[in-house]
Amino acid sequence: MQFEPVIGLEIHAQLATQSKIFCSCSTQFGKPPNESTCPVCLGLPGALPVLNRRVVEFAIRLGLATHCTIRLDSQFARKNYFYPDLPKAYQISQFDRPICENGWLDIEVDRQTRRISITRIHMEEDAGKLVHEEDGDSSFVDLNRAGVPLLEIVSEPDLRTPEEAKAYMEKMHSIVTYLGISEGDMEKGHFRCDANVSLRPIGQEKFGTRTETKNLNSFRFVQQAITYEIARQTEELLDSKRIVQETRLWDSVKKNTYSMRSKEEAHDYRYFPDPDLPVVRISSDFVEQIHNQLPELPDAKKQRFMESFGLSTYDAEVLVADKQVAEYFEEVVAAKADPKLVCNWISGELMRLMNENKVDIRNVGIPAKSLASLIQFLQEGSISGKIAKTVFEEMVKSGKDPATIIEVQGLKQVSDEGALRGLLETLLSNNPKQVEQFRAGKTQIKGFFVGQVMKETKGQANPQIVNQLLEELLNG
Ligand SMILES: [Zn+2]
Repeated sequence: MQFEPVIGLEIHAQLATQSKIFCSCSTQFGKPPNESTCPVCLGLPGALPVLNRRVVEFAIRLGLATHCTIRLDSQFARKNYFYPDLPKAYQISQFDRPICENGWLDIEVDRQTRRISITRIHMEEDAGKLVHEEDGDSSFVDLNRAGVPLLEIVSEPDLRTPEEAKAYMEKMHSIVTYLGISEGDMEKGHFRCDANVSLRPIGQEKFGTRTETKNLNSFRFVQQAITYEIARQTEELLDSKRIVQETRLWDSVKKNTYSMRSKEEAHDYRYFPDPDLPVVRISSDFVEQIHNQLPELPDAKKQRFMESFGLSTYDAEVLVADKQVAEYFEEVVAAKADPKLVCNWISGELMRLMNENKVDIRNVGIPAKSLASLIQFLQEGSISGKIAKTVFEEMVKSGKDPATIIEVQGLKQVSDEGALRGLLETLLSNNPKQVEQFRAGKTQIKGFFVGQVMKETKGQANPQIVNQLLEELLNG
């Protein structure tokens, strides 16, 4: 390609506070429309906002985790625009004095680490929600979400590929959930992003004209929408057309982006400091206190997993991406199961179930203790890998522990040398032709006997012992 993509992301993370940012209304999801509202979040005249201290604390947590400078006197500003889901006709946000600035985040793509700069993180309130009547001509407004706290995280245009953008968003998601500041539930819109994309001829310093694709609420959509935008803009430029600076939306069914409004129609927000809210003054002691309470973050955990459990970078990364998965992994390992085997089971069977049933690892139906026990049976050789899969399926279905399943169904691996020797001797004497062929040098015939033993034992013969005994008997 003769063009280089330049990508920047603006992520919105909904904060997991109990109450809204400027009033005491509940942030709980799924309540009847307009139940969680009061004069403040309804924007009634004369109602005054009071800042939720938790929001400031959460913003500082994220700022520190992403190496930002924390501003000790940040300020709220009014972002003015008219829309039916915004009763005050302005959103309280931050403008020229955001709480966090100049941070960074490392991402890993194709085994290469890239550092992505973060311009700013600021606090703001969410708007309400419009509900359009299907096949009707009415629209309804639900203001339960109005005033729910958000952090907006703005990256520098440092990203160069759709894969990097996806990796950046995934990393940020795992950090906010590790910090416990957001539930990060993307289906509920807790974590969404706007992607700015432009192209420039390779070697050129100056940025090209950019488009902004709004409200991408899955990692896959981010990657797909940016891939589409790069292809679309490339085609336009090769056709000697001008890129129009505009806001676009992603259609996840048609898999394309389409224009929502051009720059000419763009809002002039007329920002000014909110006179109802004082400057947010924070002491450096408060920042220090939050700093000391930060939990272990994904990068540090990854390093520890590699060092303590001998896992590869890739394995460690898969495990730490989801905080719950990482904790589950440690529980299974603590119950004396081999770390590499545990990692394989989690990234294979467990994650398959998580995707299929759209549940987190705690709701897959396999308690950490049960997985550890299954892996121990495997380690000590009392069941084969194949039988382990059968036991696992049964565990999912019945919720029983592996010991019971193996006992009741008689799945224990046959490792009794005496029994297996007897079985093999009968087999050999029943198949003299094959024995002759083996002795004449056709050694691959051994596989025939292994197959026969497995058939007779329903796959429960210990393959190592079978092989050992066969060598001995056939060569003897
Ligand atoms: Zn309220």
